[in-house]
Amino acid sequence: MTQRTDVVVIGGGQAGLAAGYHLRRLGIEHVILDAQAAPGGAWQHTWDSLHLFSPAQYSSLPGRLMPVQEGALYPDAAHVVDYLADYEKRYALPVQRGTWVESVHRDGPGLRVETDSGSWTARAVISATGTWTRPFLPAVPGRREYQGRQLHTVQYRSPSDFTGQRVVVVGGGNSGAQIAADLAGTGTAELTWVTQRRPRYLADDIDGRALFDHATARRRALEEGRIDTGGVASLGDIVAVPPVRAARDAGLLTAKPMFTRLTATGVEWADGTQTQTDAVIWCTGFRPALAHFAALRLRGTRGHIATVGTRAVDEPRLHLLGYGDWTGPASATLIGVGRPARDATREIAEFLRP
Ligand code: FAD
Repeated sequence: MTQRTDVVVIGGGQAGLAAGYHLRRLGIEHVILDAQAAPGGAWQHTWDSLHLFSPAQYSSLPGRLMPVQEGALYPDAAHVVDYLADYEKRYALPVQRGTWVESVHRDGPGLRVETDSGSWTARAVISATGTWTRPFLPAVPGRREYQGRQLHTVQYRSPSDFTGQRVVVVGGGNSGAQIAADLAGTGTAELTWVTQRRPRYLADDIDGRALFDHATARRRALEEGRIDTGGVASLGDIVAVPPVRAARDAGLLTAKPMFTRLTATGVEWADGTQTQTDAVIWCTGFRPALAHFAALRLRGTRGHIATVGTRAVDEPRLHLLGYGDWTGPASATLIGVGRPARDATREIAEFLRP
């Protein structure tokens, strides 16, 4: 049986909920289809010690400030999950859980959304599926020969899983630095941290607040036709959150240049020497989870879909929300997704107007 609604939102993490909040305010009938069994999107699956890089009030979705977590300036992931669960309930957002969207097709004047438990037709679709389900691993020689354990950020939980082991952490971004600090801090694993270029820390007094301000200034500059001030990447790669700062200042975070290949038992460096290792943790990023749009054959580069604002250039009934700066400055953050969600839903309201 095919069900009908005005808008299908795919993904019920923070971006999907922000879309739901605005759709509800505009009185647009919608459903939010989410693969997870419980609220919280990717925040349910991060490593145990992860804390936000911004204080609670700077990590809020539209309409409701995130409450302060007692004793923590930077809330942990469990606090974010509680906040998202409460947000969804407070605004009675129509989330249908445990529903995996397989594909989206053009169907007369609307779009048909096929799921593992039936299909929907809608006049517009908002995709908010994030990146967590599409971990990226680089093509490094020897990756298949290596007989130790290989994990991506998405599988890392805690240093206790590596007690007494020799671990190589790959990646000079926030995940790499934080996981390296997590392992170094307890001293139970023998850590080697490798990065493609020298780690670029943001100034110690810069956290997500300043990053958001920077993204906002950039948006204004672009809107007003002024010179592009550059994305947040121009400030550095690593937010020096307290555990990273502590490990770095204690001299525990010394990065080595990337190894040239994996061997069966470890890694080989540019000078031909080898290090034996038990595990390699790839903190090498993500790609947008967009496979469900394959049938629409939309133009794009680097796994993205070409957009104007949030709207797909080649499919005016489709909006993309939350994946990265390409769907709105800071739209892949809690505080940043509210504005593109508002803009996307306003555009949809215009589009649906008879
Ligand atoms: P997600 O949270 O991934 O939600 C997407 C949802 O869609 C999931 O529930 C998923 O199961 C579902 N889904 C995916 N595909 C389908 C499908 N085909 N059918 C149905 N459902 C589907 N941001 C901050 O603001 N502050 C921070 O401190 C911060 N720290 C971060 C630390 C890490 C390690 C990472 C990776 C990100 C961090 N971010 C931070 C960025 C961002 O806020 C999170 O990545 C956030 O989870 C993105 O929300 P989202 O709703 O876009 O995606």
